[in-house]
Amino acid sequence: METISFERSIPVRHQVDVLVAGGGPAGCAAAWAAAKMGRKVLLLEGHSCLGGLGTAGMVPTFMHISDGYHLLCAGFASALLERLYQGAVHLKTGETGAGLSIRAEELKRIYDELLTEAGVEFYFHSQLIGVTMEGRKIDTAVFAAKSGLFAVRARQFVDCTGDGDLSVMAGAPFDMGDEEGHTMAGSLCSLWSGIDWKRVQKPDDREIARAIEDGVFAVPDHSLPGMWKISDSVGGGNIGHVFGLDATDEHSLTKGLIRGRQYMREYETYYKKYLTGYENMELIATASLLGIRESRRIRCVETLTFEAFRTLAVFRNEIGRYNYSVDIHPSNPSLEEHLKTSGNFSARHLAKGQSYGIPYGALVPQNTENLLVAGRCIGTDKLMEGSIRVMPGCYITGQAAGAAAALCAGNAQAPAGLNVQTLQKVLLELGAYLPNAKTED
Ligand SMILES: Cc1cc2nc3c(=O)[nH]c(=O)nc-3n(C[C@H](O)[C@H](O)[C@H](O)COP(=O)(O)OP(=O)(O)OC[C@H]3O[C@@H](n4cnc5c(N)ncnc54)[C@H](O)[C@@H]3O)c2cc1C
Repeated sequence: METISFERSIPVRHQVDVLVAGGGPAGCAAAWAAAKMGRKVLLLEGHSCLGGLGTAGMVPTFMHISDGYHLLCAGFASALLERLYQGAVHLKTGETGAGLSIRAEELKRIYDELLTEAGVEFYFHSQLIGVTMEGRKIDTAVFAAKSGLFAVRARQFVDCTGDGDLSVMAGAPFDMGDEEGHTMAGSLCSLWSGIDWKRVQKPDDREIARAIEDGVFAVPDHSLPGMWKISDSVGGGNIGHVFGLDATDEHSLTKGLIRGRQYMREYETYYKKYLTGYENMELIATASLLGIRESRRIRCVETLTFEAFRTLAVFRNEIGRYNYSVDIHPSNPSLEEHLKTSGNFSARHLAKGQSYGIPYGALVPQNTENLLVAGRCIGTDKLMEGSIRVMPGCYITGQAAGAAAALCAGNAQAPAGLNVQTLQKVLLELGAYLPNAKTED
């Protein structure tokens, strides 16, 4: 392929303490935490709203916010949930809060409000496209926006792009998918009206098997995440797997979006003909961001592994604890893959009251000196990405990365050398759930 070199003088438009790239659940929590600690914080988001996959991606529900007894994502998420559900979320003992439905428009507005109130400066339509480096330190991050190219200089940077774009630009190594590079399928989420929820029953594998046999689907897919109740007649669809996606490649994303939109007609037929309560359903919208379950995992100074899940690990340097299954979706549509990913679930599931610790080092990318990473692309093994990737998990790592960046910006130090006891103390002040923190010397 022909190559050219492209050189421009561009303005350094912002000088801040902390720059957060990407405004999904992790980015919002990170920016909020850093601003609450009095730092000058800028968040830049490529899309047109805050919230990432939970808003523009139309993901219809939150997964576990609690282990059945404690609000694991407390802090930023306490403020958010209180506003979203008009009052504190009171879960009965033993409830995890999984399946709390999301009205995406309200959630967008609440993110706007919370970040504005915290003093975060943020802009949309600003895509991170590169960095300038001084050794292992990011000097500036470069963005392409409607007004052209500009740079941002910051003391600390937080990568919340979901795909680890900033970390990779800064030279951090990464892994993607399994040994052969296969990643979990994505899904294009959607919104449907006209559902008679009173008549809806939980489908089982038989209906989908029948529809597959009848040739309803162009790509036979036995795994059906499902339709969630959003309001009396509206449903949020997390339906239809898009296989073979590479979330870091726009060609693959474009094909995936086109395929996802085509699937909607097939799923409409399936829901109307094979299930009850959906006879009058109508598609209102598909998401503007394709739902990506898995892309890069940034290699960090520590890795959150399945061993931590299995042993309910407690880390001296933990920045939070989480409880959610290792939720792996198929990477191809075969029945064999469906049985492989849906089977053996109990070994990848935590009981009420159980949780695993998240070590601070899983937020510190290797080979970098002023960068933290949060959200679904932190340093994990393949299995643990399947657990920590859900939104409450991203709030926990986002809040911690934002607080760590704020401390490092204040002390002019590298994240790898941060005193984690100091971080834990600050996180507790922000409201985080940290039962094992030892904040006394
Ligand atoms: C189909 C599907 C269903 C799911 N269901 C659930 C569920 O029921 N409950 C749950 O809790 N979780 C669910 N999840 C998981 C969850 O939604 C995501 O893993 C979570 O949103 C990840 O948060 P994040 O902040 O790391 O990344 P994202 O939500 O992906 O946000 C990243 C943000 O960064 C922006 N960005 C990316 N690159 C750049 C760049 N170069 N420059 C500037 N901005 C950039 C993006 O536009 C985006 O706004 C689901 C995920 C999928 C795909």
